[in-house]
Amino acid sequence: MDRYAVIGHPIKHSQSPFIHQQFAEQMGQLLDYQRLLAPLDGFADSLRHFAAEGGKGCNITVPFKTQALDIADELTPRAELAGAVNTLHLLADGRWLGDNTDGAGLVMDLKRLGCTLMGANILLLGAGGAARGALALLLAEQPAKLVVANRTPARADELAQHFAHLGNIVSAPLETLDQPFDIIINSTSASLQGETLSLGDQVCNPDTRVYDMMYGATETPFLAWAREQGLEHRYDGLGMLVGQAAESFYVWRGVRPQVMPVLEALREQLVAVK
Ligand code: NDP
Repeated sequence: MDRYAVIGHPIKHSQSPFIHQQFAEQMGQLLDYQRLLAPLDGFADSLRHFAAEGGKGCNITVPFKTQALDIADELTPRAELAGAVNTLHLLADGRWLGDNTDGAGLVMDLKRLGCTLMGANILLLGAGGAARGALALLLAEQPAKLVVANRTPARADELAQHFAHLGNIVSAPLETLDQPFDIIINSTSASLQGETLSLGDQVCNPDTRVYDMMYGATETPFLAWAREQGLEHRYDGLGMLVGQAAESFYVWRGVRPQVMPVLEALREQLVAVK
């Protein structure tokens, strides 16, 4: 049976085995997908061991996405632009292909939710790995303007410069944002720490759609802020998680599973263990 895994540290909370087993059942395929805890200083060894035991591909999560970029023998353009790899695929000649499916998962989910990206004014909050992974795919949708804002402004400036050749992207300090956006995407880990961002209410109007890449059984602080602004269109990142996994499944298996049934099952499971 073909073997796959998600490698990270920590790893026990990863939903990827559940998602990929559901995809495999849906597509009538037989595969084994496990969680693999790699020591913080032992990612390369863990990967070698996994391949020696017949591993065909893996997802990479915190904190190994940049190490995976270095280890990959070949990169897809979107992984190269993102500067991070979340999917490794063993090629027929034994080399690792590195890909990044996070941005594709995000864009897929935004479209599923009815967000029109072409011509939109988009605000992306945060300039970490998730933002970097998302930017090329967001710009490919040709928004009118994409503003990146981050707690540490220099990191937002760097990202805006790095992706400038792909579209209309600028950086701006968080405190100076005073125009409403069509779509606001939170890629910061502020919600993870239970913190709220200091955003003025000028950044939204009643039609603004907000998306928090973070997800959980309960409302994230960012989505709570959006609710308090009276915004109706508020979404968490669970669909992005399933979307990026579907894209990884496609890289490995050449078929695209349906996201919705798995997203619904995962949501039910999250709520049940709340
Ligand atoms: P990084 O550590 O690379 O980046 C964190 C970002 O959050 C930085 O821009 C940082 O700003 C900012 N930040 C952290 N704390 C605060 C705070 N208290 N106030 C304001 N800004 C803050 O993390 P990632 O980019 O890898 O992940 C970010 C989030 O995206 C996480 O919540 C993660 O769970 C989620 N994610 C979801 C995915 C999905 O499939 N749904 C996929 C990938 C990520 P600074 O530069 O100033 O430090």
